[in-house]
Amino acid sequence: EAAQELERRERIFATAQERYYEHPPQIERGWRHHLVDTTGRSYVDMVNNVAGLGHGHPGVAAAANRQLKTLATNSRFLFRDLAEYSERLIALMPEGSGLDTVLLVNSGSEAVDLGIRLAQAATGRRTVVALREAYHGWTMASDAVTTSAYDNPHALETRPDWVHIADVPNPFRGTYRGQDTAGRYLADLAADLDGLVADGREPAAFLCESVLGNAGGVLLPDGYLAGAYELVRARGGLCIADEVQVGFGRMGSTFWGFEQSGVVPDIVTIAKPMGNGFPIGGVITSKRIADALSSQGQFFSSAGGSTLSSSVGLAVLDAMVEDDLQRNALEVGRHLADALRALAERHPLIGPVHGEGLYLGLELVRDRETMEPADAEAAAICERMRELGVIVLTTSERSNVLKIKPPLCLTIESADHVVAMLDRVLTDGW
Ligand code: PMP
Repeated sequence: EAAQELERRERIFATAQERYYEHPPQIERGWRHHLVDTTGRSYVDMVNNVAGLGHGHPGVAAAANRQLKTLATNSRFLFRDLAEYSERLIALMPEGSGLDTVLLVNSGSEAVDLGIRLAQAATGRRTVVALREAYHGWTMASDAVTTSAYDNPHALETRPDWVHIADVPNPFRGTYRGQDTAGRYLADLAADLDGLVADGREPAAFLCESVLGNAGGVLLPDGYLAGAYELVRARGGLCIADEVQVGFGRMGSTFWGFEQSGVVPDIVTIAKPMGNGFPIGGVITSKRIADALSSQGQFFSSAGGSTLSSSVGLAVLDAMVEDDLQRNALEVGRHLADALRALAERHPLIGPVHGEGLYLGLELVRDRETMEPADAEAAAICERMRELGVIVLTTSERSNVLKIKPPLCLTIESADHVVAMLDRVLTDGW
């Protein structure tokens, strides 16, 4: 049956349509952090960062159902859930941050596009500085700042002239491995920014994830983000934090990724887990920056900030508090990271374990000194893990990092089970 579905998919979809595995399982339903396929097999879902609350959350389903039966209209009207939802989102920002205004859309790509437009409108400039090896979306502007070779193979040659790409400050690899990483990368960034100013291309914005998501959750070197924000602001630019992946409680120790670095961005882009599967995205910024959009006419999104989206969004926020998911991400994430580091002591293929909370990356290398990527091994291990009932997949420019970003309701028992299965595969071979 899965083979038939695959044939059907290949017939009706673009070849570029991405999929998990050569032969994906045909998934029928999910509950919490588990998936079940049409043959009745169940899997632990270690990849679904959209269903942050877990699959099939009853509170969210009830809110959607109630709203669909009542009303389906948009943000041009007044309604209580929209104002309530927007205030609740603002309240999630650090106190005194000045991030007090919300614009609602439907996806991460749209949020990044809008963040860029806001920065350009507010500064009257065009240039956006983005980091290498990053993913920010597939729409025209978000794709233009997507620099990972996998997602945008022409990324580095065919850039629109408003994009400038800066080096990625990965402390485990690259130009300044093993050195005073933040200091070196910041010196390069300062030179980049000065070069742009000298060319009359003053930066409108610096855009990055607060944790290197595409690299597999690599934490930025100490002081990098604060230093970068300072350099950009000193030259009149704004700082955009793409929190689509790393935000919303996943880091456990902080609600937002940027809080890991003790900084406050000017513009924050959010999406993925906001609707627990229902599409919601948004930008949170200051009133001053948001109001600059007036120079470009009106802002409106048919479904962004709709009655349905607001009700679902509110139900998700309620459930996050009720289920205490940020604390669970912290506790289960720490437990899992410790167990993975213990596993590394017995399996030389495991290199650094990246990340924080339930946003972890297990980097597989053939040699810990040279960090030669174990990409073929990583792919084979993922296939074998799937046979053992665990969905885990690779990421990074080198496809050698097992990225761990399960629903935030993952339990210690399931985490232990995943580690046991991984131990088995690494011991018995793949
Ligand atoms: N930014 C980041 C950091 C992302 O990871 C993603 C999605 N993987 C996006 C933006 C785009 O989000 P969407 O797929 O909802 O358009």
